[in-house]
Amino acid sequence: MALIVQKYGGTSVGTTERIENVAQRVAQSHARGDRICVTVSAMSGETNRLVDLGNAIDPGADRREADVLLSTGEQVTIALLSMALQKLGCPARSFTGGQAGILTDSAHSKARILDIDATRLHAQLDDGRVCVVAGFQGRDGDGNITTLGRGGSDTTAVALAAALKADECQIYTDVDGVYTTDPRVEPRARRLERITFEEMLEMASLGSKVLQIRAVEMAGKYNVPLRVLSSFEDGPGTLITYEEDGMEQPLISGIAFNRDEAQLTMAGVPDKPGIAHAVLGPIADANIEVDMIVQNVGDDASTDLTFTVHRNDYDRALEIIQRVGQEIGATDVTGDNTIAKLSLVGVGMRSHAGIASQMFEALASVGINIRMISTSEIKISVVVDDKFLELGVRTLHEAFGLAADE
Ligand code: ADP
Ligand code: ASP
Ligand code: MG
Repeated sequence: MALIVQKYGGTSVGTTERIENVAQRVAQSHARGDRICVTVSAMSGETNRLVDLGNAIDPGADRREADVLLSTGEQVTIALLSMALQKLGCPARSFTGGQAGILTDSAHSKARILDIDATRLHAQLDDGRVCVVAGFQGRDGDGNITTLGRGGSDTTAVALAAALKADECQIYTDVDGVYTTDPRVEPRARRLERITFEEMLEMASLGSKVLQIRAVEMAGKYNVPLRVLSSFEDGPGTLITYEEDGMEQPLISGIAFNRDEAQLTMAGVPDKPGIAHAVLGPIADANIEVDMIVQNVGDDASTDLTFTVHRNDYDRALEIIQRVGQEIGATDVTGDNTIAKLSLVGVGMRSHAGIASQMFEALASVGINIRMISTSEIKISVVVDDKFLELGVRTLHEAFGLAADE
């Protein structure tokens, strides 16, 4: 008898009909004799609606209250799914994150799970009931409701799977697996049978929102077998695995992209020790996360420093470096919030030279100018004008032969 954790995302529980469809799937798994713990997201669009409601009162509202508000979306779906399961004759009981024993820190809106006391869930599962747990939420040590950051139900699922020592954690969504790139941008994208934790982590970090980054991190850390599947059709989905020795790795597994970036440049700064700190220190002090950084020294002993931040932080970052630029005598401070980052990911890259030049050649062949480059062992990222994003994705998909066979 297997213990399975299943997670159904917002689109999969977007209407009462869909919730009844999910209930059918859950009831079938339960009828096979497996022990099932389900976690669900809010109905699609609901969390955004709640965010807007809060913003209408006060965009700077107390984050504790914002979490009380946002957590209600998932509370609706656990009740509806439990009702739908009971209607099918499948014994089920709903639990909020706190009731399920999910203990987090107190960082409202981005809380981390510290521990799960699964006693209550175990007792229900032992009694033959399906547990239906609200995703995306927990409670802190003082009993306050917390939320785990957008897309956080994935993390709830993996944390529950780790705590319950589940045999598999199944993430049901509106695509039938992890693809070579977002199928909404490249319809020829191909479903991957498997992808390594390392690659999935890079893909998620570089913008592929099919799984929340933290969920992948946690699955890798606690060795949770993770599978992405469709809630609308049957199929094997994509298994996230460890890299196996001796297994022939594909060169490139996928292409990730991110439109949420903005670029800032400070030019003509005197080249001396401490400049990078003088520029990036105040950015860090303002709690703005920096992604890529490039520094270039010209032959006139001046230096240019370019870096990227999240687009939401662009205005604040520009203001800061305009001020710092004046203080340290930069000749020019510029910014651009119409950029995008495009990344190739693959563990096979480790053992192959020439991937970067092949990437740059492909982008040049369609006239896409590269503005910044950064590499790691298993990824190459470039910054381009955001109007070229779709063209860039499709060009690279073709150049690296990632498309499905026709
Ligand atoms: P859920 O509401 O179920 O959590 P999400 O919208 O968070 O679903 O994630 C599924 C979406 O992720 C898909 O509809 C797809 O557009 C997008 N996506 C981005 N990159 C990929 C990828 N490489 N493979 C599959 N889906 C991807
Ligand atoms: N409902 C939350 C969100 O929209 C969490 C989730 O769906 O995973 O971000
Ligand atoms: Mg999601």
